[in-house]
Amino acid sequence: MTVQNRIALALAGVGKIARDQHLPAVANGRDFALVAAISHHGKVANTENFESFDQFLEARPDVRTISLCTPPNVRFEMAKKAIAAGRDVLLEKPPATTLGEAEALAAMAADAGVTLFATWHSRFAHGVEPARQWLTDKAIRRIEIVWKEDVRRWHPGQAWIWDAGGFGVFDPGINALSILTAIVPGAIIVDHASLSFPSNRQQPIAARLGMATAEGAPISAEFDWRQEGPQAWDISVETDAGTLRLSKGGAELYIADALATTGPDREYPGIYDRFAALIRSRQSDADFQPLRLVADAFLRGERQDVAPFREEDGKAK
Ligand code: NAP
Repeated sequence: MTVQNRIALALAGVGKIARDQHLPAVANGRDFALVAAISHHGKVANTENFESFDQFLEARPDVRTISLCTPPNVRFEMAKKAIAAGRDVLLEKPPATTLGEAEALAAMAADAGVTLFATWHSRFAHGVEPARQWLTDKAIRRIEIVWKEDVRRWHPGQAWIWDAGGFGVFDPGINALSILTAIVPGAIIVDHASLSFPSNRQQPIAARLGMATAEGAPISAEFDWRQEGPQAWDISVETDAGTLRLSKGGAELYIADALATTGPDREYPGIYDRFAALIRSRQSDADFQPLRLVADAFLRGERQDVAPFREEDGKAK
């Protein structure tokens, strides 16, 4: 595709994920051309930078497509304005702070006839689609999710993640739930949840969930942000035909302990390929099941108080 045929794109929220993934995926892809960035502090070289979303919408009516890479708590207002202005919108995960916001956005986008893409980057990991296909004719007996990472390493200085609406350990945990809901057909029910809150924080640092498939197969999930040493992003599914295991956040798929598929990381290039296809076919893709499971975990959750979290404590180690 020629540069002239690319879709003009604006990106809002120039932070970690925008720099690590969105900007490289757009620059190296064939479908989009970044023409504007909107952020209070972050700037992108060789593009027009705006500090105000309203100013951008007014100044650039020609830019019909926007990626929203801010934290979730400010995304709803931006998405609402973008949709009202007739723009196609990509939402980073989680798509909004609440299900109410997410569902309202989907309805607004449908009414306005614009594309809304609620992305779940982990669903684009190499092993996920083959895992879904392998499971289609198997009977699931039990599922175990272990998602343990070091918050200081992956979310340095991100105060918003601990505020009400910041998701805490569900910020990575929802990635596991996005894979779970992609590979397991039918409803998933949250039976119980235990949420560990640092005494100085508004969001959990760890969570244990007990869930079940529609057929009653048990699903356990353990999310923990206090993991030092090896990090774990694993899902194993025991079936009548052996055990499937997704490792490294879905990047590696094992069937009966044999590596079935892996490959270089293509999550964000995959997201932008899909966004371009959705825009060209005037469709939306907005599945809120992972957000529903997080909401249900908070509704079911028993609270445990744990030691206060201080980011600087990790630096002494
Ligand atoms: P981040 O590093 O904090 O960047 C977000 C940027 O959004 C900030 O730098 C800030 O830039 C802007 N922003 C606008 N309103 C804000 C507000 N009220 N509070 C804080 N920042 C605000 O966060 P991130 O890690 O990129 O995460 C953003 C989204 O991407 C989250 O939903 C997260 O779940 C998702 N995500 C993150 C990762 C990851 O590895 N970090 C991976 C996948 C997905 P200005 O100050 O310039 O406005």
